[in-house]
Amino acid sequence: MNSSDYAKWTARATEWITDYFANLSDRPVRAQTKPGDIAAMLPDSPPDEAVSMDDIMADFERIVPDGMTHWQHPKFFAYFNSNAAPASLIADQLANAIGAQCMLWQTSPAATEMEQVMCDWLRQAMGLPKGYQGVIQDSASSATLSAILTMRERAQRFQGNKLGYAGAQPVRIYCSEQVHSSVDKACWVAGIGQDNLVKIDTDRNFAMRPEALAATITADKMAGFNPAGLVLCVGGTSIGASDRMPALLDIAKQEGLYTHLDAAWAGAAMICPEQREFWDGADRCDSIVMNPHKWLGAQFDCSVQLLKDPTDQIRTLGIKPTYLHTEGEDSIVNFSEWTVPLGRRFRALKLWFLIRAYGLDGLRARIRNHIQWSDDLAEKLRTHPDFTIITERRFSLFTFQYTPTGQNANDATKALLQRVNDDGRTYLTQTLHEGRYVIRFTAGQFDCTRDDVMAVYDILLDLTR
Ligand SMILES: *Cc1c(COP(=O)(O)O)cnc(C)c1O
Repeated sequence: MNSSDYAKWTARATEWITDYFANLSDRPVRAQTKPGDIAAMLPDSPPDEAVSMDDIMADFERIVPDGMTHWQHPKFFAYFNSNAAPASLIADQLANAIGAQCMLWQTSPAATEMEQVMCDWLRQAMGLPKGYQGVIQDSASSATLSAILTMRERAQRFQGNKLGYAGAQPVRIYCSEQVHSSVDKACWVAGIGQDNLVKIDTDRNFAMRPEALAATITADKMAGFNPAGLVLCVGGTSIGASDRMPALLDIAKQEGLYTHLDAAWAGAAMICPEQREFWDGADRCDSIVMNPHKWLGAQFDCSVQLLKDPTDQIRTLGIKPTYLHTEGEDSIVNFSEWTVPLGRRFRALKLWFLIRAYGLDGLRARIRNHIQWSDDLAEKLRTHPDFTIITERRFSLFTFQYTPTGQNANDATKALLQRVNDDGRTYLTQTLHEGRYVIRFTAGQFDCTRDDVMAVYDILLDLTR
């Protein structure tokens, strides 16, 4: 296939996509395949001779769609949604065609400058003050790793990249047990170690207790540790728990800790001013991550990290070999100096298309609907004697158990969840909360309707009959 055949095949692909969207709700949400099914349909070795695009397309249709879980299905209520609003899809197609490696301003001026402006649009939309500068990463895990590495390097007075970390006074990072596992993994990768990520006690709302944080830091200093950073969460992954930030940030400031806020999922809801109950203090965090590819609607992948002052992160991650030098460096940003990977995609384009094609009002309306409908479903389940709400709705996430009398609630819930996902009409996932196996419900698919959400009630009843 040559560039001259592009129009023909992109038209075929578009036809397939249009049909896929039109019939998506008839498909089972979660893939109903078994491990090995797909691999068995693929030849063991690569072809020496070229295969026709007709055959490749036909094989795609035969093998792939039924082997996928359909994240854009309107009844996908599992994990957190990863969206692909159509306007952002178009933008990604254009960016893919240009195929730029956007590591330096010089290799991608429009991508670099659009990235700066889009991050600033999001800063404004989320009610954050001027001064934050943003960078788009592939995932929140990468943004969090960048922040953790910055904490470590800063605590070592920027000598760690040169001297290494072995033999240094061990740094300590603080968070609650409600943070995402990407914080733990960042500490593994950074060589800080799981034992130096200290999980601070929480209150009855699962927010970090300031007194516990202060006491732990004091004890750590006495024991010879080097307190380096604090990770906060707004909208934790398990049940949506959020820290009350101001008192925690006061302690961080007093102790000279670098602060990172993980709002990967719920950050999108901050474009709605009435959702900012837990946002107090965000304007004092050194680093904030939110994923536009989750609730906001951008095509995966797109994770925005906002930095109060990027200097420390650039000192930690910026490396400038001669072959990457650019003339006139003072007035430009080279985003590869802000992140672990050198290579980077043109991700700002899909944000530009997304925000303009729906407007902030259009995006807000979707988020408000998801929250309202999630509330409606929780209230309906609450009235049913066989269901128990375990954690109340936070943003659009609540958890529940199936609790018919005479059965073990964990076992009954687990069995019901398996029936739901084998059935395929909707897709829900689980978490363990205080020893209880609970089903998580979260609404966030870009095109879902109230009927899609309320159908979950009927499906649950149907499958418990
Ligand atoms: C989804 C999520 C993450 C991980 O996001 P990735 O972009 O997949 O790395 C981290 N933290 C929170 C709160 C999340 O919801």
